[in-house]
Amino acid sequence: MQIADLGERALIKKIVELLGHCAAPGEVGIGDDAALVKPGEGMWLLTTKDLLVEGVHFLLSAGSAVDLGYKSLAVNVSDIAAMGGVPRHAFIGLAIPSATTVEFILDFYRGVKEVADKYGMLISGGDTVASPGPLVVSVTVQGEVKRENVLLRSGASPGDILCVTGPLGASAAGLAIILHQLECPEDLRSEALLFHARPTPRVVEAAYLAESGGVSAALDISDGLLKDLEEICEASGCGAVIYEEQLPIHRAARAVAALQGSSPRQLALSGGEDYELLISVRPSQYDLLAQEYVSRFATELHAFGKICEESGIWLIKEEGKREKLSFTGFQHFRSG
Ligand SMILES: [Mg+2]
Repeated sequence: MQIADLGERALIKKIVELLGHCAAPGEVGIGDDAALVKPGEGMWLLTTKDLLVEGVHFLLSAGSAVDLGYKSLAVNVSDIAAMGGVPRHAFIGLAIPSATTVEFILDFYRGVKEVADKYGMLISGGDTVASPGPLVVSVTVQGEVKRENVLLRSGASPGDILCVTGPLGASAAGLAIILHQLECPEDLRSEALLFHARPTPRVVEAAYLAESGGVSAALDISDGLLKDLEEICEASGCGAVIYEEQLPIHRAARAVAALQGSSPRQLALSGGEDYELLISVRPSQYDLLAQEYVSRFATELHAFGKICEESGIWLIKEEGKREKLSFTGFQHFRSG
């Protein structure tokens, strides 16, 4: 059945049925004029929003409706995590072409619900309208954070150690497989596509890092390490060095780069959509934090560089030479 045959009211009813409960005790979710929600005692409210347009930010041919719903919510949850917060409520807006099937929209919400359930969130409201053009997805997420735990982009200082919560480039490898229709082994394809379609927001890791007091700046990697690191540098008024041999490159990125004859380093630096946390850690607190992180999460906090006073982002090569990095490629600057 197509959306046009069902009508908005009946569609919302089906969505609410699928989602189950939409409000915590005392709160009001879907069904009234506005959602009524209560942040925890002494908590501050975080709000983030993403707008995704079919053909610009996603291709319907490249993935399932379930994955689209999953990713649309997961990337917003990642933004809340990057501020040190816990996601609580989501609001979903959809502009739907009339030929869209009801099952497609319900599948979209199945993906949304998977993320919401995983992180203990509620879908508290939204809007659906008819679109004369492409499918448009708008997601707003609210989360909460203790004021003293807020992680900003602006707190980094020279000497701080740069880390990421996981190896980079797997999502970009998945996108390359889709866009270039790469022939590759099935296990590599499914691993890379999973990273691209279903990023894991680092909510639990971020809550621990925020609470630790050792993190001076943080964000989640959406545009690529290089561009996002520049965001921290700009906000903090500093530069950064990256040690080439320490850059954590995901094995899927290495494999896809080998198939394409391209650079795995480029996928890790500029691929984007990794949704790992990029953090700077105060050097006096680094050893303890890194140790505790491994014992808590059974995975390493990958240190790969340092904040420096000199502006710009610099790659220190294995042989000690350095290059100034830019978003569009590498500009050789000087040796030594
Ligand atoms: Mg972000």
